[in-house]
Amino acid sequence: MITTQILELDQKYIWHPYSSITHPIPVYPVERADGVIITLKDGRRLIDGMSSWWAALHGYNHPRLNQAAITQLNQMSHIMFGGFTHEPAAKLAQKLLEILPSELNKIFFADSGSVAVEVAMKMALQYAQASGAKTVKKRTKFATIRAGYHGDTWHAMSVCDPVTGMHGLFNASLPVQYFLPQPSVKFGETWREDAIQPLQDLFEQHADEIAALILEPIVQGAGGMYFYSPVYLQKARELCDRFGVLLIFDEIATGFGRTGKLFALEYAQVVPDIICLGKALTGGYLTLSATITTEKVATTICEGEAKCFMHGPTFMANPLACAIAYESINLLLEQDWQTNIKRIEQQLKEELAPARQFKSVAEVRVLGAIGVLEMRQAVDLASLQKLFVEHGIWVRPFGKLVYLMPPFIISNSELTQLTSALLAVLKQAYNE
Ligand code: PMP
Repeated sequence: MITTQILELDQKYIWHPYSSITHPIPVYPVERADGVIITLKDGRRLIDGMSSWWAALHGYNHPRLNQAAITQLNQMSHIMFGGFTHEPAAKLAQKLLEILPSELNKIFFADSGSVAVEVAMKMALQYAQASGAKTVKKRTKFATIRAGYHGDTWHAMSVCDPVTGMHGLFNASLPVQYFLPQPSVKFGETWREDAIQPLQDLFEQHADEIAALILEPIVQGAGGMYFYSPVYLQKARELCDRFGVLLIFDEIATGFGRTGKLFALEYAQVVPDIICLGKALTGGYLTLSATITTEKVATTICEGEAKCFMHGPTFMANPLACAIAYESINLLLEQDWQTNIKRIEQQLKEELAPARQFKSVAEVRVLGAIGVLEMRQAVDLASLQKLFVEHGIWVRPFGKLVYLMPPFIISNSELTQLTSALLAVLKQAYNE
């Protein structure tokens, strides 16, 4: 199909993420993607700065992941998980348990990050019911911090920031949850005890209504790309224990090395009651997520009224996705990935630093393989995107945030091309 035909069909019939069907902003037809290079149909080659939204950590078209997919495809790409089990799910479960804190050992495989969050929230509600939440108000609500993002499905939306979380439109219909201020102590700053006071106050007044506190540990992603102190998580764990509230960590974006630790929780040495994984779980090949909980939560749920956990998607534990995920984790662990992330972090720090002098830039921050330029004003996505493509890079800003999170396989020279093109575009767009 020629490019104009693709574009015509796309424009006429297809929605893109958060897009208008009547006034769509331009999209770029892709021919293929290899390593860190995305090749457009018109032949232009772009260096990938996004890892397809945190997912493609080994780059695209990786021979090992391709082979894992082909081998599994020739056996079966899918089989229902009701009544059947299979080696890809068993091997992936074993691998995940090896790399997660040992307390987390009961796994539910679902098909997207948002669904993993729904599953975690349902687990917390069933746990509250099963453990006899006999208080007057019952534990039916959730608490979270502002500027968070947990997905686009209904209850996941209810714990996204009502303003920056892109779901403000639905506020009137969403369950009302408790929102706390963003942790005021940034990552790397000295801890101040007043930062945890709002959580303590909330629990003192309303803990008997709250099933769980849900947080993206250390790095808040789509709600603001904000990095906060690990001590907040330690204090939150203590308060959750004291008030009988479950702690859910959404590591859908932060998992698998992106922040410099395999999981961001390692910065705080805190173990949640439930953790959600997704995105980079399959190295960006297929959609798969996992919600993992403790023996205590799992057994309490299953000894409750329902006698089981009430969820079961059609594509649960999809064998193809599980086989690729298993290979992707092996691929990551076989390398000296910590040194590699440090290399990317160091280079991002050095090469993005000049942006601090730009009038249009409010803050530059880097953690692990994540580099963020927070602009003073929301950017004009379509015009900036066009400039990025013209400069041979793929960067997708949102709101005030222009950020890089390249595949881990990016070379030093490719990363320099990415950062220098990014700064050149901002100079051009903002007359810096
Ligand atoms: N949680 C977090 C922290 C995320 O960043 C995202 C996706 N941006 C989700 C949940 C939702 O995942 P998905 O898009 O796969 O449903």
